[in-house]
Amino acid sequence: MKKVIGLLVLAVIGIFLLATYRANTMYPDQQYYPQQHSNRVAVDQDKVVSNFSKAIQIATISHDYPAPVLAEPFLAFHQHLQASFPIVHAVASREIINNYSLVYKFQGTDTSLKPALFMGHMDVVPVDQDTADKWTHEAFAGVVDDNQIWGRGALDDKATVMALMEAMELSLASGKPPKRTVYFAFGHDEEIGGSQGAKKVAEYFQQLGVNFEFVLDEGGAILKGYIKTVSQPVGIIGIAEKGFINIRLIAERPGGHSSMPPENTGPGILAQAIVKLENNKFPATLRYTNTTFDAIGSYADFYTRFAMANQWLLAPVVKQQLLANQSTAGGLRTTTAVTMMKGSSKSNILPTKASVVVNLRILPGETWKTVLADVERIVDDKRVTYEVFMNNDPSPVSSIESDGYKWIAQTIREFEPETLVAPYLVMGGTDSKYFYPLTDSVYRFLMIKLTPDIRKTVHGIDERIKIVDYVQGIQYFHELLRKVSFDNEAPSPS
Ligand SMILES: [Zn+2]
Repeated sequence: MKKVIGLLVLAVIGIFLLATYRANTMYPDQQYYPQQHSNRVAVDQDKVVSNFSKAIQIATISHDYPAPVLAEPFLAFHQHLQASFPIVHAVASREIINNYSLVYKFQGTDTSLKPALFMGHMDVVPVDQDTADKWTHEAFAGVVDDNQIWGRGALDDKATVMALMEAMELSLASGKPPKRTVYFAFGHDEEIGGSQGAKKVAEYFQQLGVNFEFVLDEGGAILKGYIKTVSQPVGIIGIAEKGFINIRLIAERPGGHSSMPPENTGPGILAQAIVKLENNKFPATLRYTNTTFDAIGSYADFYTRFAMANQWLLAPVVKQQLLANQSTAGGLRTTTAVTMMKGSSKSNILPTKASVVVNLRILPGETWKTVLADVERIVDDKRVTYEVFMNNDPSPVSSIESDGYKWIAQTIREFEPETLVAPYLVMGGTDSKYFYPLTDSVYRFLMIKLTPDIRKTVHGIDERIKIVDYVQGIQYFHELLRKVSFDNEAPSPS
């Protein structure tokens, strides 16, 4: 008996030692340690801030379909770009796609290099009428105070559009032509899905037969506390995005007076379906969490590394923790959100047609068709019918070994050596989803620091950007353009 206990104790110690060994060896430091240089181009702060403020004052709002695009603000925005960036407009060839979206081509001298595409969107979301008076400064006034630029679009996404243009204007000012061909593409309806803007732009490139070295769009940023036990800020670069589907569940019944109800009314049938869906969530995987953690795990505390390195034993605990938090749960699985319910129009009328909408955000690896089949299987009720409206498959996953990813990551580290870099799965959708037929390498990142209180101003109240962040965003793009295209001696990333 003593022998058995002794062996058991030995086994437990053995497992513990093995687990500790894994925790200490599984996460080698994956950060780049570039030579200390920052190549910060000199920026005329007053000028770039003034250009940006004017850009915010042009209310390029995307209203939900079927409202038509208001031409006037977009044309005014085009004019503002022309007036602010004379060198860009002298050098580039410009195409207007579907009336309002813009494509700029900067022809490179070395046509053996695949072109690079930088994207952004000119449109912004409206300001909620109920919240308009809660703004510190009027949303489209473009107010500049001591250290911030205020207004709708300051972060999403005029910062990208304007910083790219400023960076290119400065790059071209040296008189040196780009070596690699560079394209800029600015959509006009990203906030309502991009079907009239970015999608048409992607079709335009397909007709030209262009294949890109990489595509960079909005999405990631520098966040503090992205992983709780990593104290450094993390620059997260989006390498894939989730898909989505809206499914309307419908229950049609004979109707009649509520004094003579059937066993289940339409809403009753749908309620049962909702309970089944909420009790049978989609399976969770740590695949994408691991992709992020692999890059920065060496900076996490021992306990986190211990848990993450020993998923053979602790995966259920890790999953449970991440699923318990609404902000991390979406990275683990296809999420199920029941949103719009409809019954009859009067309290004593039995509804002839009841409906409820389920919005699901789909993990890469599944498709909207497999998700629809799963929902039908889970509900398993012949009285329910299904109607799909708006659907998009998740994107493929781009490599972190490509030159494009490495250039982006290196430049972040050069500018902010304190900031770590990691790939991540984007929860929302961006215009770049349309560009997968044109390249394997699609990334999403903008060099700005988002604290939790600034982050919630995107699509919310008091959207604003720090002037230092905006200036650094320009310098970042300038340096990235140098690596990608302008520096003939640019070493390929190690
Ligand atoms: Zn955006």
